[in-house]
Amino acid sequence: MKPVNFDYARPKDIAGAISLISDQGRSVKIMAGGQSLGPMLNMRLVQPDLVVDITGISELKAVNDHSENVVVGACVTHADFEDLRVPDVTHGALASVANGIAYRAVRNRGTIGGSLTHADPSADWISILSTIGASVTVAGASATRTISVEDYMLGALEADLRPGEILVSVSIPKLGKGARWGYYKSCRKTGEFAHAIGAFLHDPDRGVSRAVIGATESKPIVVAQASTFIGDGRGSAPGKAFDAGAVAQLLEASGMIDQIDRQTHIVALRRAIERAYPA
Ligand SMILES: Cc1cc2nc3c(=O)[nH]c(=O)nc-3n(C[C@H](O)[C@H](O)[C@H](O)COP(=O)(O)OP(=O)(O)OC[C@H]3O[C@@H](n4cnc5c(N)ncnc54)[C@H](O)[C@@H]3O)c2cc1C
Repeated sequence: MKPVNFDYARPKDIAGAISLISDQGRSVKIMAGGQSLGPMLNMRLVQPDLVVDITGISELKAVNDHSENVVVGACVTHADFEDLRVPDVTHGALASVANGIAYRAVRNRGTIGGSLTHADPSADWISILSTIGASVTVAGASATRTISVEDYMLGALEADLRPGEILVSVSIPKLGKGARWGYYKSCRKTGEFAHAIGAFLHDPDRGVSRAVIGATESKPIVVAQASTFIGDGRGSAPGKAFDAGAVAQLLEASGMIDQIDRQTHIVALRRAIERAYPA
């Protein structure tokens, strides 16, 4: 199928973009990399009057290195992370996860802001950035808001973005020296969307021991105190201390009733923890 006819605009700054998307007389869609929006347009799942292409806004491609965090513009691409054009403040976690997203052509165009706003439960950024404790800043005509990544995704294909708002940047905290992370994506072929995601971070300097179970039917399940089912993460083999029964209960309580689905997610999390502590 082909998209419906739409007007196209490519503003040069954020104020121009906000002015265009605030037009209440027309149905407007922001386009970043177009990797998710393109298919939706072609299938006519969205039928905007106007597409606002934000890739000409230099501020949305900026990377700013601060003492506690790195702030990246919403249009920084998966490939920018993979190729370390974004400073590595996560001991390789973000570069490694970026490398596992789709294939290079998608990574060249797909953006961190587009992925988070599209809010596909199977996507990678939402899970790893929830694990690391990143946040997003969204801007509208009169105010900006900062929201944790885990709260930005409200549910499947639904982000906390109000009419007239645009996601401007993502703040990534710098992990402590002793931090350990693991990420496991279960999919049939490399680069496919995940059937299950497990992610784990133990960052003693920041007092973080967090586990995330992603690629569920909705937003990732964030366990802020992963020690409740893996101990303090400092044992010789934390993977062995893994309490699969507790994770199964958590998944069942979240509504994951299919036993195979549950098992796939349990294994993904266990492997993520094992990857954090390689033998
Ligand atoms: C073949 C294929 C395989 C893929 N595999 C994976 C995978 O394994 N893992 C994975 O995580 N992803 C995967 N993706 C998705 C890919 O990562 C996309 O790049 C991403 O989901 C969307 O980013 P985008 O920049 O292309 O956004 P777009 O497609 O341009 O936009 C997506 C949505 O976000 C909105 N939007 C975009 N930017 C903003 C902003 N700054 N503010 C407000 N709204 C905004 C748009 O209006 C639209 O609703 C795959 C895609 C394809 C085509």
